[in-house]
Amino acid sequence: MIYPLSAIYGQKDAKWAIMALLCIEDMKSLLITGKKGTGKTTMCRAITRYIGNIDVVCGCPFNCDPNGFLCTECSSSKEISVCNRKRPFVELPRNIGIDGLLGHKVGDFFHAGIIGSANRGILFIDRITTHGREIVNTVFDILALGRNEVEEFVHGAEFKIVANADYEDGVIDRHILQRFDFVVSTQPIRDVEGRMEISSRIALFSSSAEQFEARFARSEEKFIEKIAEYREGIKEIAVGSETIDRFLGKKIKEDTTKLVIKLAKLRALSENRRVVSDADIKFCMRHIPRLSAIIRK
Ligand SMILES: [Zn+2]
Repeated sequence: MIYPLSAIYGQKDAKWAIMALLCIEDMKSLLITGKKGTGKTTMCRAITRYIGNIDVVCGCPFNCDPNGFLCTECSSSKEISVCNRKRPFVELPRNIGIDGLLGHKVGDFFHAGIIGSANRGILFIDRITTHGREIVNTVFDILALGRNEVEEFVHGAEFKIVANADYEDGVIDRHILQRFDFVVSTQPIRDVEGRMEISSRIALFSSSAEQFEARFARSEEKFIEKIAEYREGIKEIAVGSETIDRFLGKKIKEDTTKLVIKLAKLRALSENRRVVSDADIKFCMRHIPRLSAIIRK
């Protein structure tokens, strides 16, 4: 059983950011930073509970969309059948080589790499600073392209990245940090009551999955309802053009502007407001590394 997000004590901002990743199509990557033992890995893994199913071409290792982009193999098949499967959640293995990441050809056969397996799902990078810089940069390059092409074999590479970084592992490369769409930090829980509550939840989780599931069933149900509610509700939230002009001038790329507006709308919605405030825009810009320098001015 995967530890549910609603059973994580505290960490409001990190949970909100995961909700945003689940609700906003344009948000492609999330980094959660913080001290060791603040639940970062658990929260990242919890995502697999909420990503649902997709239709794929049966047997295709790249999870091709029967109604979308097809890999070289699927597009040359005379007939394809459709299967429904869980959206993939794939962890980037440590010390992976470029062949393992991108896939490689042996004779006429193309072996899927990690990118192929993660297509249309989530790629999880645990403790990102302990992974090779070249590998991580390649992951972001492919994400930007949306395709992976190796020796004339091509497949879709539409996925989202969720990563975490421990402060104890050292400083994250600035260039890599700037590539994330959203960065949020966890806070260590210092009060005795909080610490005791965390310990009791972990103890129950490891002693009885059934009792644990029952205890958090209602909060989990509410969390899942919220995802659906937010995905729909975000369309109804208004943002004034003067608010956009004030913060998001011509210097900011159009797709980044779009992302900020969607995030700000989600923040307003999650606080039961129908109109985006300046504070919503500022909050979102502060968490987007490529914009945080602008907001500081
Ligand atoms: Zn395919």
